[in-house]
Amino acid sequence: MKTISFSVNDKIPPREVCGCGFPHHYNLKNVLFGNVLDLLELLPEFDMSPPYGVFYDEITFKVCGKQVVEQLNAVEFNVKYPTFDEAETHLRRVRDLRTIIAVGGGAVIDVARYVTYRAKTTFVVIPTAPSQDGIASPRSALYAVSPEGELVYKGTAEAKAPDIVIFDLDIVSSAPITLIRSGYGDILTKLTSIKDWQLGRDDLGEPYCPTAEKLALEAVESIINVGSEYKSANSIMNLCKALILSGAAMGIVNSTRPGGGSEHMIGRHLEIYTKRKLSHGIAAAVGTLLMASLHELKNPNWWSEERYKLNSIRERCEKWDILKSLKEANIPRQVFVEAITESWKTRPERYTILHKYKPERELAEQLVSYSRMEI
Ligand SMILES: [Zn+2]
Ligand SMILES: [Zn+2]
Repeated sequence: MKTISFSVNDKIPPREVCGCGFPHHYNLKNVLFGNVLDLLELLPEFDMSPPYGVFYDEITFKVCGKQVVEQLNAVEFNVKYPTFDEAETHLRRVRDLRTIIAVGGGAVIDVARYVTYRAKTTFVVIPTAPSQDGIASPRSALYAVSPEGELVYKGTAEAKAPDIVIFDLDIVSSAPITLIRSGYGDILTKLTSIKDWQLGRDDLGEPYCPTAEKLALEAVESIINVGSEYKSANSIMNLCKALILSGAAMGIVNSTRPGGGSEHMIGRHLEIYTKRKLSHGIAAAVGTLLMASLHELKNPNWWSEERYKLNSIRERCEKWDILKSLKEANIPRQVFVEAITESWKTRPERYTILHKYKPERELAEQLVSYSRMEI
């Protein structure tokens, strides 16, 4: 397999040029596509030195974690739950390691990036699925354990973005299909999250970064023309690039603000209702359908480009089988209504179109119909 390198650094101008006031610090140096074991040989060229530690979970160990551990003669970290307690336990074992490698999806990366930030090591991520844009984010979504033994979401913590991301297309293309759909869905959500952020800028004078907007829209543009061939290796490579660009948008402002608006609040509500049967990006894309309806009805600053509007968003959800996954989850109409009227109350500090209009039942019912949620 040929090695291809993709860099986002040249897309990030110094903060003075952008004029936004955000730091524009972002440590991701390189994104490499190729055979993972071949690319590991190149780590010293990128100033990644041993001793190495490899984070994985039960599933990703089988996907390629085992091979990575063996090739690098690495110390092993088996991640069970994405909690602060577990991250702290692993941190105590990192001690003399110089490079941490995360092999996996959300939970493994979230734990590893918190540990690497605290231990000040260099950091490599090998995603096993192209499922969400947090891969290259500098924030870590960790949970606490309640007295009843349940995981309670505590928001994102300061962490570190990877220095290098390695995508092996054979691996990410073989990920479960719902995780691939989830990745496409998570990129679509930028269309509502950016407009929510602009509401914050225009109504409350919130700081805003035009470069972050540009990166998020470049992510959207990388996949907006992908159709039902979304599972092909070429489409998945574009998806991987989009996930990196979207992560960089959040990275340079050190916040999930550019990539997580009202649609993610609704998505989280649906994820919890379906006990995570609906994966992150699919749930959030459904949130985007509902919130694109609200923006289209109420926000004069909503996109004028046809390809960013509700009809086009819906068409993508159809082509990428996101609506099929939604249908399989069999969610009653009432749950969509409740997600619209209630979900934003859990994040009062992040101003979105839901916070602006605080939809009551009647408007929520109207939005469910308008976005044709019953399929
Ligand atoms: Zn997301
Ligand atoms: Zn900026």
